[in-house]
Amino acid sequence: MQPLKIYNTLTRQKELFAPVTPLHVGMYVCGPTVYNYVHLGNCRTFITFDVVFRYLKHIGYKVRYVRNITDVGHLEDEVAGAGEDRIGKKARLENLEPMEVVQHYSNAFHDTMDALNVLRPSIEPQASGHIVEQIECVQQIINNGFAYEANGSVYFDVLKFIDATKKQPNLPQYGQLSGKIIDDLLAGSRDLDGQDEKRSPLDFAIWKNPPPEHLMRWNSPWSNGIPGWHLECSVMSQKYLGDTFDIHGGGMDLKFPHHECEIAQSIGSCGKSPVNYWMHANMLTVDGAKMSKSLGNFILPTELFAGTHPLLSQAYSPMTLRFAFLQAHYSSTLDLSNEALQAAEKGYKRLLNSLNLLPKIAPPQQNTQPMPADEELNALCQQCYNHINDDFNTAMALADLFEMSSKINAYYNQQAPIAKISLAAWQQLSHTYRHFITDILGLKDETTTNAANNGITEGLMELVLQLRTEARTRKDWTTSDIIRDRLNNLKIQVKDGKEGTTWSLA
Ligand code: AMP
Ligand code: ZN
Repeated sequence: MQPLKIYNTLTRQKELFAPVTPLHVGMYVCGPTVYNYVHLGNCRTFITFDVVFRYLKHIGYKVRYVRNITDVGHLEDEVAGAGEDRIGKKARLENLEPMEVVQHYSNAFHDTMDALNVLRPSIEPQASGHIVEQIECVQQIINNGFAYEANGSVYFDVLKFIDATKKQPNLPQYGQLSGKIIDDLLAGSRDLDGQDEKRSPLDFAIWKNPPPEHLMRWNSPWSNGIPGWHLECSVMSQKYLGDTFDIHGGGMDLKFPHHECEIAQSIGSCGKSPVNYWMHANMLTVDGAKMSKSLGNFILPTELFAGTHPLLSQAYSPMTLRFAFLQAHYSSTLDLSNEALQAAEKGYKRLLNSLNLLPKIAPPQQNTQPMPADEELNALCQQCYNHINDDFNTAMALADLFEMSSKINAYYNQQAPIAKISLAAWQQLSHTYRHFITDILGLKDETTTNAANNGITEGLMELVLQLRTEARTRKDWTTSDIIRDRLNNLKIQVKDGKEGTTWSLA
């Protein structure tokens, strides 16, 4: 089997994976800013790293996976370092406590991740729970000469940092991760609100003294203020994973400024490169444009599962979405469309169908010695591992699983004689197939969950149809049609007959 290789954004190369501590992996992924519901684009990134987490565990590593919750410090315009704190603003507009906003969207995020079968991380630290550590880090960076105070805010001195690291070529240089050229950054910088406090437009806030209307703030040596957004990830990754850890992940859009600034802060505080492998997931797009809250082209998971978004012709299940994401390599963009989702729905069912056939196939118990037909099966299983070891190529691994699925179907239908393979080869095929689908790719069988849920479904359907019958009795055709159409979107067909209304799954 080929060893695991990971494409490292910092070196722009696929590298052999070797963790800092043998058999242990430390992984940090930037989590959501909980001022709103996550959209399908965000979900793609979290599913990408869920597969990385699952696979590392599958091959025997003890993984400490840290995925934070950003609940303070993320400003409206991070590139400019301007605007209000996103959570504070939401709380102010909705007349809520900021922590009410945080709790609500964190709960919703967890529900979504559970539905998508994304495993919970080992630690899920909140930025607001690590203010003391962040203040200590700011102080450390000031002491090391890489930050300065201005009007209660503290800025990272990027030009000084660039000068200092030039003398240490073994450390990542500012701009290396994102491929930004310093002169271009300087030429492209605009005059921005509060920029006069900075020595250079490249500098970014690590502590901010915000205007008085800001709700969340903490006492510090510099002001009653808030930490800069980038700081939480440097501080919390270092606290839980050490000065230098193995894998740091996030979406491509976080390379600059967020991750570039994280590297600068970590080196600025402890003098070491914080991360050995930087991984970036590419964007989910809609008609070629990045799915984002600001563009307004986003689809929420609940809208997908209920089929209520105008772009969707039907409802799609959580596993259909997961399958659709896995059909592309994480480093490629992926365009969401009804065609892609419908193809994923079919593909997922095909794989699941063969998985459910496995226990129904009688193993070739008597074949305890290797058989000539084993070779092809063994090679197929190896190939599947080789593909996932090649920078987590889930698209290629799925193609291998389809091949395995055809073989399993052929054994079941007796088009291929199972007697021609050894027991060991059969066991390897069935284990590889099962482990890949359920443990590594995290695709669960929704049909069994639905069957277990049937009592509730029946009860709810009875209630919904009763409400619809009542609407019809009052000649409220609008309500009755809405109910029928929404059920149709969920692939539930409603039939009005002489004996009343019945329903069935389309
Ligand atoms: P945010 O809450 O905006 O910080 O985003 C959470 C995560 O989702 C980050 O890792 C982003 O890079 C990622 N993300 C945002 N938009 C997309 C998208 N359209 N496709 C894939 N990942 C995304
Ligand atoms: Zn981060």
